Amino acid sequence: MTDWDLIVIGGGHNGLITAAYVAKAGGRVLVLERRPIVGGACITEEPWPGFRINTFAYASGLLRPKIVSELELGRFGYDPILSDPQGFSPLPDGRHLTFWLDELREQKEIAKFSKADAAAYPEYVRFWDHALDLIEPAMMAPPMPLSEFIGTLPEGEAERMLRDLFLRSAKDFLDDWFESPELKGALAASAVIGTFAGPYTPGTAYILGHHNIGRLGEHRRVWGHSRGGMGQITQSMARAAIEFGATIRTSVGVRQVLVERGRAVGVETETGERLRARAVASSIDARQTLLDLTPPDTIDRAIADRLRKIRAQGACLKFNAALEGIPKFTAAPDPGHLVGAVDIAPSMEYIERAYDDAKYGTFSRAPIIDAYFQTLVDPSMAPPGKHTMTCFVQYSPTSLRSGPWSEAKEAVADTVLTTLEGYAPGIRKLVSHWQVMTPQDIENILGMPGGNIDQGDITPDQIFSLRPIPGWANYRTPLAGLYLCGSAAHPGGGVIGAPGHNAAGVLLSDLHLGLGRSGGADPTASEADALPVN
Ligand SMILES: Cc1cc2nc3c(=O)[nH]c(=O)nc-3n(C[C@H](O)[C@H](O)[C@H](O)COP(=O)(O)OP(=O)(O)OC[C@H]3O[C@@H](n4cnc5c(N)ncnc54)[C@H](O)[C@@H]3O)c2cc1C
Repeated sequence: MTDWDLIVIGGGHNGLITAAYVAKAGGRVLVLERRPIVGGACITEEPWPGFRINTFAYASGLLRPKIVSELELGRFGYDPILSDPQGFSPLPDGRHLTFWLDELREQKEIAKFSKADAAAYPEYVRFWDHALDLIEPAMMAPPMPLSEFIGTLPEGEAERMLRDLFLRSAKDFLDDWFESPELKGALAASAVIGTFAGPYTPGTAYILGHHNIGRLGEHRRVWGHSRGGMGQITQSMARAAIEFGATIRTSVGVRQVLVERGRAVGVETETGERLRARAVASSIDARQTLLDLTPPDTIDRAIADRLRKIRAQGACLKFNAALEGIPKFTAAPDPGHLVGAVDIAPSMEYIERAYDDAKYGTFSRAPIIDAYFQTLVDPSMAPPGKHTMTCFVQYSPTSLRSGPWSEAKEAVADTVLTTLEGYAPGIRKLVSHWQVMTPQDIENILGMPGGNIDQGDITPDQIFSLRPIPGWANYRTPLAGLYLCGSAAHPGGGVIGAPGHNAAGVLLSDLHLGLGRSGGADPTASEADALPVN
């Protein structure tokens, strides 16, 4: 008898989800996490006394409701806060565009910039609702070939969806809908988040869709905060996994996957401990899993070559800060505007120019910034009267032409604060502490290759049956007994949970573990069966 049915490498949110599902079905599961805390990129830490910061991921919403419901995450502390407004985009000329949950209110806001765009907006929203109805089920199951997926689309729609979702740039797509540069800039930021590509790059329209699938309560295409920080999401998953019977060990890195007679039979830890299991699931990226953690020559050369060519570049960094007070944005001094995302992305051209800098190895001189002030809705994150600010800043290439990232942090902080000063004069003086997490930090701390936040770009050439590589997209790998369950697998990154959920379905089937044996978790059931989010 082996020690475990399943060993999961990495306790990021996907690893925890796979562990929870398999444990809930009666499997003996062990999660090994290299860091002292679980959560991977979805964590909250306290870098300065009393200030709790979402070090990496900061916006909640993508996590699939089916997972929340089946793993009973509400019971274990998952508590999202829906933002209204969803977003606030201050503009260099002192105007602003605010995204409200209420569609009529939003139309009025857009009409400030273009009456035609305001009129087109409801149809744009319906387009996404419809497109997401088609895409979401495909995200919550092992991937079918893209060509086959297109074939499943209702007659008369396949061509349009193929063009709009998979082939086009965000720019061409948005140009079809709208005329106002301000609106298109604000929308296009979501099409490049985390990806080393500009909005003029073909395929970025799909990324817009990926970041549009957020659901909180009855609201679609939305984002919010996680009460207590993003770490609460993964803490709730860890608690669920443990209650369902999984064991989680932290500060235990995996050095090697043990292979016997062409099959993964367990792992060896960084301290030399050997643990045996019927199957091993890795939530880290495909290249490291298959090339660095398996003995030499385990993987066929042609496959190894494809794995090396997975595109996974850094595109962003985090600037996190403790604030003495809340900044005043000239365009709308009322802090009520700042409860959702505060976006500096005034036009698609601005974003593309920011990308131009990074293409040639420079941090963007005028970066796009997505800032969150969580303390406005969740004061528990800072001492009384103080605030936190977490900025997702793009573009920052994996390597800088000018030298190591560690020497560029002061300059980066200065660029971020100078950019923000243009919209919120005095913000610099409010900062009492700051930290910069560069692509190099993201890679070193979390193991995400190149600092790529999705464990590989989620462009159309690396999604569905092409993720991580063609022929090996169903969570199984060329090494029998070794599985992928993290963002490297379909449908990709974000705190979405779908890769962990889908991998669990395949594992339960391969391990012949009874679905729902202890409580009804069923990663093969349809999302429509799920209860709404708490
Ligand atoms: C800066 C940044 C900002 C982001 N912002 C958002 C956001 O706002 N909203 C959103 O939805 N998504 C966001 N994302 C993306 C999202 O956080 C990730 O795609 C997602 O969390 C990845 O989850 P995962 O479980 O697949 O992998 P990871 O979170 O990468 O987990 C992998 C785990 O494996 C561990 N590990 C690595 N090597 C070993 C080893 N050898 N042995 C044992 N353990 C190992 C790591 O320590 C890590 O805990 C962001 C990501 C980053 C980096």
